[in-house]
Amino acid sequence: MSAQRTLGEFVTDEKIVEWLAAQIADNHRDATHGATAVAKRHHLPMVCSTCTATKACCSSYVLVRLYEGLVIAAELVRSGRDTPALREMLRARAELMESTPVADWFTPCLFLDEAERCTVYAVRPTTCAQLFVYTPPDLCNARSNEIKSYTPREEVAAANALEEAFRERLSLRKKVGRRYFGILPRMVLVSLEAWDLTDFRDYLRQLPWRTDEEWAAAVAARA
Ligand code: SF4
Ligand code: SF4
Repeated sequence: MSAQRTLGEFVTDEKIVEWLAAQIADNHRDATHGATAVAKRHHLPMVCSTCTATKACCSSYVLVRLYEGLVIAAELVRSGRDTPALREMLRARAELMESTPVADWFTPCLFLDEAERCTVYAVRPTTCAQLFVYTPPDLCNARSNEIKSYTPREEVAAANALEEAFRERLSLRKKVGRRYFGILPRMVLVSLEAWDLTDFRDYLRQLPWRTDEEWAAAVAARA
C-alpha cells in the first residue's frame, strides 16, 4: 500500500500547483483583454495601469476560492515566507475580518508591501486581477458609488469552473450547498495548515464553509 501523501506532497507530485497557476494566469490575461476591449469600445481610460495613488483596492474585503489560497500558500512555502509569525498574522487578520461587517472593512492587505506593491502578484487572487476601473483613483479612495469598473462575467464563470475541477483533482467532495470559498487570509492560512497533513481532506471538509445563501447575504451587505 502506498504511503499517504500530505497536501503539499500531493499537489507537488501531481503538478496541481503548476496547473492552477497556469489556469489562473490565463484567466488574468483574459480579464486584461476583456477590460481593454471595453475601454477601447467606449473610449475609457485604463486607469489602474498608471495609478500611483494609495491602493484603495488593496484595502478591500477580498474573497477568494480555496484553490487561490492554496496557490498563494504554495508560493509562500516555495519562497521561504511560511513562518510562524506570518501564520499568526494571517490568523489575527482573518479573525479581525470575520468580526467586522463587510461594508466597514478598509485595511491594507497583509500582502501589500511598504511600496504599495503586491508581494504575491503573479498568483494574486482573481478578485484582485480582474479589477479594472475606468474612473479616477480618487473615487477608489473615497469609496465612491461613482466608480466605473469592468464586469468580468466570463472570467468569474471560468474561475468557478476551475474551483469544481480543483476539487475533483483533490477528491475533495463538496458539502451540499457549500462552497470552498472565504476571505483571503483565512484561505491562505487553512492551505498552509493543511500543507503538512496527510488527512488534509478531512481537515478541509470539516471547516465551517458557508452556504450559498450566507454568501449571497454577505455580498449583498457589501454593496
Ligand atoms: S482600483 Fe483604483 S486605487 Fe486600485 S489601482 Fe485601480 S485606480 Fe488605483
Ligand atoms: S493580494 Fe495583492 S493585489 Fe490582492 S489585495 Fe492583497 S496586495 Fe492587493
